Amino acid sequence: MNTTLEPQKKSNFIREIIDEDLKIGKREGRVHTRFPPEPNGYLHIGHAKSICLNFGLAADYNGKFNLRFDDTNPEKEEQEYVDSIVEDVHWLGGNFEDRLFYASDYFEQMYDYAVDLIKKGKAYVCELNGDEIRATRGTLTQPGTNSPYRNRSIEENLDLFEKMRQGEFPNGAKTLRAKIDMAAPNINLRDPIMYRIVHAGHHRQGDTWCLYPTYDWAHGIEDSLEGITHSICTLEFENHRPLYDWFLDELGIYHPQQIEFARLNLSYTVMSKRKLLELVKNNYVDGWDDPRMPTISGMRRRGYTPQSVRNFADMIGVARRDALTDLALLEFAVREDLNKKAQRVMGVLKPLKVVLTNFPEDLTEELEGVNNPEDASMGTRMIPFTRELYIEQSDFMEVPVPKYHRLAPGTEVRLRYAYIIKCEEVVKNEAGEITKLRCTYDPETRSGTGTSQKKVKGTIHWVSAKHAVPVEIRLYDRLFTVEDPGSEKEKDYKEYINPNSLEILSSVVEPFVKNAKPGATFQFERNGYFCVDTKYTTADKLVFNRTVTLKDTWAKMK
Ligand code: ATP
Ligand code: MG
Repeated sequence: MNTTLEPQKKSNFIREIIDEDLKIGKREGRVHTRFPPEPNGYLHIGHAKSICLNFGLAADYNGKFNLRFDDTNPEKEEQEYVDSIVEDVHWLGGNFEDRLFYASDYFEQMYDYAVDLIKKGKAYVCELNGDEIRATRGTLTQPGTNSPYRNRSIEENLDLFEKMRQGEFPNGAKTLRAKIDMAAPNINLRDPIMYRIVHAGHHRQGDTWCLYPTYDWAHGIEDSLEGITHSICTLEFENHRPLYDWFLDELGIYHPQQIEFARLNLSYTVMSKRKLLELVKNNYVDGWDDPRMPTISGMRRRGYTPQSVRNFADMIGVARRDALTDLALLEFAVREDLNKKAQRVMGVLKPLKVVLTNFPEDLTEELEGVNNPEDASMGTRMIPFTRELYIEQSDFMEVPVPKYHRLAPGTEVRLRYAYIIKCEEVVKNEAGEITKLRCTYDPETRSGTGTSQKKVKGTIHWVSAKHAVPVEIRLYDRLFTVEDPGSEKEKDYKEYINPNSLEILSSVVEPFVKNAKPGATFQFERNGYFCVDTKYTTADKLVFNRTVTLKDTWAKMK
């Protein structure tokens, strides 16, 4: 089931650190990375970057890669998220083999380590509540003040900590804090919390625990127990690194190196899990896998390939400074990959009937179409051509604008793989709307074999009406109307939701697609890349998502 990610070839500052470590034989010359999601939502494109980076490094240095659930927060975590994350990491090609771990499996060991710190006089049970702890923490310019509970005896701390575990106290009544320095310039070192009391069922541990470790306390221990060499995380943890180091040094256990890189921010979307959850819960979108979502499951449903996401991750590289990456770059990567792989077909999004008045009523000609001009091995297919066809409404203009090379009254255009036709008459209904065109075709102009030397400037796609497969097509636009909706301070990001991000069409496609399976990808010539939707497609109805538009292929068509 697993494909493997291609090694990350481009050099970057993380690779330089690893190269240096290997040169001096640090950590036995091993490279072992991990991806540590909290199962409190679905993965998004930012996580994809992290997976590609971590797995790519492991693959490239002949090392190992772990998937580890950082499931230390029972109130927000669910099995549904665990399952989706495993599926997404596999899909992306992040091969963790048999190394799937859970932070919650280390709770007992973490507890024992906490007891060790208490015994060393380096941790204490504190009874200040959350507000009081915040109020005594000080500021960037002012030191904090010591907790009145800071100097309890070791015996008392051990006893209280044990009782905390036994469930003798309500939520928030007590915490375990590291005893470091309330005047430390780095606020994270001002006696940070290690444990909170949370009486809540855990998705794996049930009611075994009512004591839950904080990220800072748990993360380094998880990395250490798994023998991680390079613990790669995003920049907001830079100020936490001294604490990561302090815990591991005080415990005297194996010490991985934390390295920070800039998180991916993508234009016209949001990436905070809280916001994504809100979009789902309030039905702004159709679930976590809505094709407009920046989630991996949304991208998969929309027709993005794992390869295109990996190529995108490669293109953007890793940096130490935050920036906003253009969504167009991701779309470029998708287009480039699909261009090589996608079967071409003709599909008419907004159909307009054309009747070829000089074409025999019962005749069906079979015309040969190229399946992929980028890949001759994909061969050709036969496309039926008949008297009644559909063309795109936008390929006809009753009053053509200057330089319009498609169809207009009295003008000619080439039908792809077929003949040159001429528009003889425009038929309208009582409301004055165009209902069909009466045209003639020139039998001497058949593509490839015709004897006529006639040339026209425009070529358009079409579908035989008799053979047309009716399909539903879903066109997507950006989910937000501004570049960085999350950072627009004046307003709530939801005010920038694009009301026109989904358009649903009744369309027709050539018969080749009739038996297409959910997930299959096509290029509808001139209209973009499309995939068969996995959610709404039924035995009776094909639903297509537009994966991405094409760029400029119109100009290249002959
Ligand atoms: P939150 O902290 O709101 O739950 P998160 O996105 O940080 O959200 P995690 O599950 O902690 O969620 O993330 C798992 C890993 O993915 C972390 O190592 C984190 O650094 C990385 N990661 C998260 N968001 C991004 C991003 N936008 N770009 C790159 N890496 C990211
Ligand atoms: Mg996080």
